[in-house]
Amino acid sequence: MTIRSADAPGEPADVRVVGVAGGGQLAQMMLPAAAKLGLDVVVLDPDANCSAAGQASHTVVGSFDSLEALRDLAARSDVVTFEIERISTAALRTLEAEGHRVRPSAAVLEVIQDKLVQKQFLERHAVPTSAFVACTPPDALPWPLPCVWKARRDGYDGRGVAMLRSAADVARLPAGEAMLEALVDIDYELAIMIARDVRGNVALYPLTEILMDPQAHVMDTVLAPAEAPAAVAARCASLAEAVVSALDYVGVLAIEFFVDKQGEVLVNEISPRPHNSGHYTIEACATSQFEQHLRAVSGRELGATTLLRPALTFNILGAPGAQGTPVYVGFDAFEGDDDVHVHCYDKPLVRPGRKMAHITVLADSRAEALERAARIRETVRVEGKHD
Ligand code: ADP
Repeated sequence: MTIRSADAPGEPADVRVVGVAGGGQLAQMMLPAAAKLGLDVVVLDPDANCSAAGQASHTVVGSFDSLEALRDLAARSDVVTFEIERISTAALRTLEAEGHRVRPSAAVLEVIQDKLVQKQFLERHAVPTSAFVACTPPDALPWPLPCVWKARRDGYDGRGVAMLRSAADVARLPAGEAMLEALVDIDYELAIMIARDVRGNVALYPLTEILMDPQAHVMDTVLAPAEAPAAVAARCASLAEAVVSALDYVGVLAIEFFVDKQGEVLVNEISPRPHNSGHYTIEACATSQFEQHLRAVSGRELGATTLLRPALTFNILGAPGAQGTPVYVGFDAFEGDDDVHVHCYDKPLVRPGRKMAHITVLADSRAEALERAARIRETVRVEGKHD
């Protein structure tokens, strides 16, 4: 099945205001790109102090489930997009029925938002992915251990993922709709950003390598370009193109891959928005993922995706025990350094493990980027203070 989204006429001159559901760091990082393109951005977020609130033209404060709030966002915008997946697709469908442009479409989000439906979609389109089965604890597990449990909805940054190796792991599972995946014997993990415009033109970014935090299952480091065999890189590129075309996608989309010990490429998951694995594009590519997303959803032509320099991005999470107002320690040291780019997310509160910032290091080689990043990591952290 191919999903088709109706294209509203009148591109792109009439798109002046982009409404973004979600005002987190991804929306925040869209703002400089929007200014460059002459676009205004209005955000919707439940938190009036969200990362993007300070710089967006307007913040609609409301829930992602609220049709009223989404209508308010749409009424202020020429096109609605989103930076998180936790949005009512029924409300987005209503916006579409009322004549608003929603990009990517509500149908796309319906497929991706629910991990089980996403896997079924991949399977239907012959995109290789690990074996899976629906499963809702505390019902008996349909598979023997080991395997991987995933919440169908609202999981992110490793929350909603559990490796099941023992009965104790199973006993700890929360209730709620979930699925099991076969445990893949991962050799390494890759990701790619891909953009597709309203006319169906596609632009691929370079393939990147992602290093995960083995405990938290959260992305730790992204290296661009990946050091993968040419056949693996070509496979990832063709799978990415197949996915965006099957979704009739508009915007940028991230695809994460596993390469198993046999060298097989499997799609792990797809994200219908700019993504952590694409932050390096801000400094390292001719067009950032944020500008590219805005170009696509506003009906503009896509920009060049050329990698200008090798790059490494690492996340900075709230330090263990950090609570209260964030205190950024050691971040000023890189002011004026053209090869070290610090992005703080302006979140009002820090929590242990919360994504608070990222740093991108540009270098002449992968080895140099890894070495410089290792040194920087030792000097920066985000703590908390109580006012
Ligand atoms: P999230 O949506 O929270 O990013 P993912 O589904 O991407 O969660 O899983 C997070 C990480 O957990 C992956 O990057 C990988 O390291 C590990 N993981 C997930 N699924 C599997 C699997 N089927 N086999 C082995 N490891 C897995």
